[in-house]
Formats: sequence, C-alpha cells, structure tokens
Amino acid sequence: MSNQEPVADSTLCARAPETPPSATEPVAPDVALSSVYRVKSLDDIDALNEGRLSGFFYARDGHPNGVQLADKMARLERGEAGVVCASGMAAIAASMLATLEQGDHVAVSDGLYGKTTTLAARELARFGVDHSGFDPKRLETLEAAITPRTRLIVAETLSNPLLRVCDVERVGEAARTAGVPFLIDHTFAPLLCRPLELGATIVVHSLTKLIGGHSDVTLGAAVGPRPLIDRIKNVASTFGQTGPAFDCWLALRGMSTVSLRVDRTSQTALELANRLESHAKVRRVYYPGLASHPDAELARRVFDHGFGAMIAFDVGGRDQADHLIKALREIPFAPSLGDVQTTISHPCSTSHRGQDPTTLERLGITPGLVRLSVGLEAADDLWNDLGQALHSLGS
Ligand SMILES: *Cc1c(COP(=O)(O)O)cnc(C)c1O
Repeated sequence: MSNQEPVADSTLCARAPETPPSATEPVAPDVALSSVYRVKSLDDIDALNEGRLSGFFYARDGHPNGVQLADKMARLERGEAGVVCASGMAAIAASMLATLEQGDHVAVSDGLYGKTTTLAARELARFGVDHSGFDPKRLETLEAAITPRTRLIVAETLSNPLLRVCDVERVGEAARTAGVPFLIDHTFAPLLCRPLELGATIVVHSLTKLIGGHSDVTLGAAVGPRPLIDRIKNVASTFGQTGPAFDCWLALRGMSTVSLRVDRTSQTALELANRLESHAKVRRVYYPGLASHPDAELARRVFDHGFGAMIAFDVGGRDQADHLIKALREIPFAPSLGDVQTTISHPCSTSHRGQDPTTLERLGITPGLVRLSVGLEAADDLWNDLGQALHSLGS
C-alpha cells in the first residue's frame, strides 16, 4: 500500500489513507467510525467469528468505542460484562428478547418508565409473553405475581416521577428464591448504589440521561453475568439494536465527569427540595432525601452518595403546571433529564402520556406534578428563577 507508485487519480482518491507513523499514543480515545474492518485471511475470519481470535470485523457486531464504553459500564456496576445498545429502550428490549420466549411471563413493577410498560404490555404480548404488575413496596404482590412461567422480574431503582425507592435487596431475594433473573433499570440513580451487589441480575441504563450528561447522545447499556450479556449482544446485533461509535465516544466523554455531577446535583437538589417544601404555592414535594418522602428511610439505607438530581413537586393542577413552565425564564421545559443544565418536565404530558388516568391517579401521578432534573447551576440562581415563577402562580 505504498503511496509512491503512480496510480490514476480515481485510485488515489478511492483508497484508504495510510496511518502516519507515530512513536506516541493519543491521550483521548480515537473515534473508530469504520463500519467494517480489513481481515487478513479466511482462517482469520473463521477464528474471529468463532471467538478464537479477538478483533472487530463489522461494526454492528462490535467496535472499539462500544467495547470501551461497555467495559467501563461493567466496571462501574461491578458486573462481569457489559453491552452497549442504541438507546436505553434498546438495552431493555434486547435484555427481554434474550431472556423471554413465547409462553413466558414477566413481572413488572408498577410505575415503570412509560415505554418499558408499553413494551411489556403491548409489544411482548404480541409474541405470546404476558405480564403482571407488582408494587415493589409490598413484596407479597411480587410473590403473588410470580408464576411457574415467570422468566424475568423488572423494576427501577428510583421510579419516575415520584422517586419511589426499590428495595433492591428484598426484591433480589424474592427473585433468587423463585429462580428468576431480576432486571433493574438504574437510569435515575447512577453511582448512588450498585444494584448488582444488592442482588439484581442485570442492570440497565439509559446513557442518554445522567451518564451521557449533555443531551447529545441516545444510547443504553446492560451489565450482568457474561453468558447472559453474550446472549444479549447476539440478540442486539441480530435485531439491529447496537449503538454507533461516535455516540459511544461522546458517552465516554460524558462519563468522565459523572461522579462530580452526581455529587453536585445531589447537593443542589436537596437544597432546592427543602426550599420548595416550605413554599406556599407548592402542594407537595417528592425527594428521597427529604424526611417527608415515603421512602426516606430506605433511601438512606440504599444510597451512599446523596439522593440524586431529580425532584418532583405538585403545584395544584394542569393549569398551574402550564403557568409555571411558561413563567420560568431560564429553566427549559424539556421531556428528558440528566443534562448539565436544569430542565423541567410534566410527566402527565410526557413520560406517562397516554397511560390511563385511573392508573396514573392510583400511582399518584397528578396533572399538577412537575419534575425537575437539577443540573450544575448555582442553587441561588435556580431558586431565583423557580421563586419568581412560583410567585406568579395564582392561589
Ligand atoms: C429515558 C429512560 C429510558 C429509555 O431510554 P432511551 O435512551 O430514551 O431509550 C428507560 N428508562 C428510564 C428510567 C428512562 O428515564
């Protein structure tokens, strides 16, 4: 591949450039955008396919940035292996597709992320997998939900939007007794605890949120025992659910500051939650670090790094929530979370849109409820904006 020999312009332009010689190595990871790799021989392609040789050959099956991110996630969660998928939903769907078959049953915790509930209730149902719900606060409801056909239990460490805390240890014990894998969605609580050490089998994240941290990537990850993750990897490749290299590179960059962001946003969120709780226009505040939260005691037991960046509060009704959102000068209404800047969301219109009103009422997800995802701004600046918007609400 010498570039000395004269070739036609078309040949010169079409061929891949040579890698410049360098006695040094980059400090930041490279972005490996290649969708395919040059393989030396037929013996090598056999060995690569059979796992006797390690290396990449087709990006949907694996690429360096995906492996770097998956390995970091596995180490962060103290799991044997990890896999990166194209979104949080892709990680959840691939985990379900890898563990469930026609005729199986899945037990899902009440109040899961809307699309996870839809996935179990509508999509898996089309493939002959049925589901039932349980209240993670009442283990007897989990025991009642488990049948001889149950092959997966699904819960979230911190629920959206009321921030109910899952007793991962007790659910994990029940899962082990029943011999059923326990998948936990840890998107709302990265670094606050380690679900695998507490008894979960698979931990999944939407990296789109706090770990990515800058609202510029859509990715997910699953971490767990190697045989299970290998199976999820295969399913993800076959169903086309794997993630692109540049997004993995961005998520790795985001991840490098996640521990600072978790500490700082937890401090600011606690301060804001306290101020909101004593504000006349706020009916109720949900923050697991407040003594008034129904799971305050459990939260203190489960979390060892603060209580996270998310606060939900009720301002009375949909009109008040709409007024508040319009009155905020700086904090944008954005139906996501985990950004470096604080955002506000309205669960009834976004994450829980389309769910039936009686279920929402039973879960306590009211039309006046808004949810803050606290970012890195100074608490006083955030309070100035929230304070003036709350002040403008009619009584
Ligand atoms: C956002 C979210 C998901 C889905 O993640 P995507 O990256 O948007 O697919 C799953 N679970 C929870 C708790 C989430 O907040």
